[in-house]
Amino acid sequence: MNKTNVNHTFFIDKIEKLDFCGKEIYSLKGGRYTQPYDIVKLEYQGHKHFDCVSCKSNYATVLKDVTNYHK
Ligand SMILES: [Zn+2]
Repeated sequence: MNKTNVNHTFFIDKIEKLDFCGKEIYSLKGGRYTQPYDIVKLEYQGHKHFDCVSCKSNYATVLKDVTNYHK
């Protein structure tokens, strides 16, 4: 199986000093940025959206969600 290398960059917008039962702690607020990466199609024998019941159900759910999102 190919392994995709995904790089994340974390950033901090705000550092807040807090008192926690007499001890000094810090609260960090921020987010994460993920650099775009190539999607690798994986093959699993017997699992296709047209011949596996579970895959078919997942495919229908995703297709419905995407269709509704783009209405
Ligand atoms: Zn399946």
